[in-house]
Amino acid sequence: MGRMGAKDPSTSSLAEPQPVKPALLSVSNADLDSWFAEHRAEPYRLRQVMSWVGRGAGSFDEMRDIPQALRAELDAAFRVSSLRPIARSDADSGLTTKTLYELDGGHTVEAVVMRYTDRSTLCISSQAGCPVGCPFCATGKFPFGRNLRANEIEEQAVASAALLAAEGRRLSHVVFMGMGEPFVNYAAVIDSVRRMSDPGRLGISPRRIVLSTSGIIPRVEQLVSEKLPVTLAVSLHAARDELRDVLVPINRKYPVRDLVAAAQGYATASGRRVSYEWVMLDGVNNTERDAHELGALLKGKLAHVNLIPFNPVDDTPYHAPSRNSINRFKEALVAAGLNVTVRDTRGREADAACGQLHERWARAGGRAERFGDPGGSDSGEATSSAVSALSDA
Ligand code: SAH
Ligand code: SF4
Repeated sequence: MGRMGAKDPSTSSLAEPQPVKPALLSVSNADLDSWFAEHRAEPYRLRQVMSWVGRGAGSFDEMRDIPQALRAELDAAFRVSSLRPIARSDADSGLTTKTLYELDGGHTVEAVVMRYTDRSTLCISSQAGCPVGCPFCATGKFPFGRNLRANEIEEQAVASAALLAAEGRRLSHVVFMGMGEPFVNYAAVIDSVRRMSDPGRLGISPRRIVLSTSGIIPRVEQLVSEKLPVTLAVSLHAARDELRDVLVPINRKYPVRDLVAAAQGYATASGRRVSYEWVMLDGVNNTERDAHELGALLKGKLAHVNLIPFNPVDDTPYHAPSRNSINRFKEALVAAGLNVTVRDTRGREADAACGQLHERWARAGGRAERFGDPGGSDSGEATSSAVSALSDA
């Protein structure tokens, strides 16, 4: 029996399928230069178009300072973005916005915008699903889909910058803490960091970009040679192999001591302190023993520990510890000489919940919070895409 909403090829239109136009940001600079030259447009026109894209223009028609004829030619050749927003959810009285995007091919990914007084941060996805499969993580629960292309990562940032610009805000920070393991998709992630930090594009300083990894050691080492001053975050969650093998299964290949040595190699080379993430799981990694082991592992290192209260995920055996227990753990680390912060509730809800809008959307059959048309009658297509994205994955 076919999947809900899957089209039967024998009954589909006889017309040839329309070739999908490339998204503008998927085309190399050299190819764009050639295209503009072939269409008798001065190079500054390309810069103008890119500036509109960077400001989040939804169509070529909005690019008012581009001649009408060129806009029509651009529209015939390219799409402004390859991402289709299909669900949106606000939290924290509107300070947090999660958007679910459908990618070419039907997979879906989430991006989360968090607004603070002095900055606006985007939590971005690098893969549809994640092959690492940590047992406490919503993303790790559904089957791996695919790597995102650099333009698909950049397009999440562009769309978020546009959302914020409409409110008079600027996208200032990007954290790769959405769906996926960025270092399994290393080349596209690094490419996207270079693009996002390009002053002709979004111009976000690499210093304000955080790459969070579960610990792919060769890629941590490779990062040193990129000479990109990004912040490295390492999802530690346990300081001994026996426990980390379970919580972060990639540890079986890349053990925790070697990982910390590689991460500190980056700290030494870049002069930037490494942020170690520790999701607090009650009775699992918040004991005195854990605090003692973590203190011993990181003492004297250019490091910072970020304690993340566990954000509940259905069908997992884990629970968040009480506030008191989190504070006790924090104090034990401070006493051991570490720099420690506890991520605030909002951060927890937004950062750690990546993967959960996707899950909620799929469980609701794709009808909840449909983007732009809550409960509308034409929701079938988006519904089937989200559901088949899951079944295809
Ligand atoms: N794959 C990368 C980046 C995405 S996950 C990584 O693991 O680092 C971003 C952070 O959210 C990681 O530290 C991850 O362990 C944490 N996280 C995942 N699920 C969570 C949950 N349910 N509650 C709290 N933190 C979670
Ligand atoms: Fe993947 Fe990170 Fe989730 Fe682990 S925590 S499954 S590495 S996204």
